[in-house]
Amino acid sequence: MASLVQGTTENPYRALPALDRLMADAPQLIEQYGRQPATAALREALSDARLRIAEGRGAPASAELLAQAGATLARQTRPRLQPVFNLTGTVLHTNLGRATLPEAAIVAMVEAARHPCALEYDVSNGGRGDRDSLVEDLLRELTGAEAATVVNNNAAAVFLLLNSLASRKEVVVSRGELVEIGGAFRVPDIMKRAGARLVEVGCTNRTHARDYREAIGPRTGLLMKVHTSNYAVQGFTASVSQGEIAAIAHEAGLPFVEDLGSGTLTDLELWGLPHEPTPREAIAAGADLVSFSGDKLLGGPQAGIVVGRRELVAKLKKNPLKRALRVGKITLAALEAVLHLYRDPDRLPDRLEALRLLTRSQSDVLAQAERLLPAARASVATRPLTVAVEPLSSQIGSGSLPVDRLPSAGLVFRPQRKGSALNRLEAALRGLPWPVIGHIADNALRLDLRCLRAEDEARFVAQLPTLAD
Ligand SMILES: *Cc1c(COP(=O)(O)O)cnc(C)c1O
Repeated sequence: MASLVQGTTENPYRALPALDRLMADAPQLIEQYGRQPATAALREALSDARLRIAEGRGAPASAELLAQAGATLARQTRPRLQPVFNLTGTVLHTNLGRATLPEAAIVAMVEAARHPCALEYDVSNGGRGDRDSLVEDLLRELTGAEAATVVNNNAAAVFLLLNSLASRKEVVVSRGELVEIGGAFRVPDIMKRAGARLVEVGCTNRTHARDYREAIGPRTGLLMKVHTSNYAVQGFTASVSQGEIAAIAHEAGLPFVEDLGSGTLTDLELWGLPHEPTPREAIAAGADLVSFSGDKLLGGPQAGIVVGRRELVAKLKKNPLKRALRVGKITLAALEAVLHLYRDPDRLPDRLEALRLLTRSQSDVLAQAERLLPAARASVATRPLTVAVEPLSSQIGSGSLPVDRLPSAGLVFRPQRKGSALNRLEAALRGLPWPVIGHIADNALRLDLRCLRAEDEARFVAQLPTLAD
């Protein structure tokens, strides 16, 4: 439909179609998005058109109004929880959802979502079941602990643990371990909210066994060790081993608990990764309770797992807060599937997606980068940028193993002259239908390809041409 030709009518508003007319012209929009959203979008397009006329810019054609409404509806319908390409170089990126799940977990989640399931129902006797028991045997087998419980995340696990065992009591922690995880998780704050009183011992760099011994008094509830997962204290340092703290605690008849942070259920050194303390080691060293995340190195869904002595786990489960912090069936379905994979460590790097990404060899990533270079180069041909394949170093992320780097590779964009070309490219990459998230530093934009799965490569390449400036 032609737009209004200026001057052919006295009232340009008359050139606008009525809402009913537009609706009659928009059967696909109604079919695709529903009558009410389509009506609202068309109404909005008409109201914008009236503003445009008021500004003396003439009336848009009906086709333009329909196109605008279509764009609005498409935008409104797109999920906000959009999938993105994580090419930041940080594998377990908290802001990008941490671990991506293995296929087995995805299938299990879909099944749990689709059908009623035996979440708290014992199919062997028809009685009531306990949702923790779905994963408890696996967790016991994989950690050597007597019992286990699962909550929303590790922050919740630490909170529940402190609230259940040390409310109105003192908790002894080394000054070197008063961690801030980022966001609002700081050990001293969690402690306060849980009703426990923090007793700091030692110094930032050095804490000794006698510091723990001297801090124990009639109000002490427990001794705690927090894995300093997102920083490293180096130089003139001393800390007390798990076993020693456990012995000191047990001498005084107190529990010793450990917040492991990440926690992996296998020895990562088997695959050339740096050592990360495991719950099994902590339990073997005498920890009475150990807590860790489900979606960090473990490679599972967001969850907080507590394993340890049966009577202490029972106290956590009896706390009314457990109900508020518990996980749902989708999480448990994914966690159970992931834990099963750990029973067969030989095939773990092939089957556990997070570990597969962490163990990808530099030569594999490099070959992928070479493969993608021509398409990447063509996509920025009109921009004042160069692109090259370069070795890079990935981080594990989520505070795990902060000082260790994984040799990786990727595409590196550098500006040919001063200006904002890099920031504009970064914004264009973010604006793609499947946003590409890279990392700008030292006047270069890096796309670390470690986390670009071979299956997603075609999709990545297909959207590159739209980057042309
Ligand atoms: C990550 C971390 C937490 C918090 O775990 P979430 O699963 O993110 O809640 C707590 N303590 C330590 C030491 C951590 O590394």
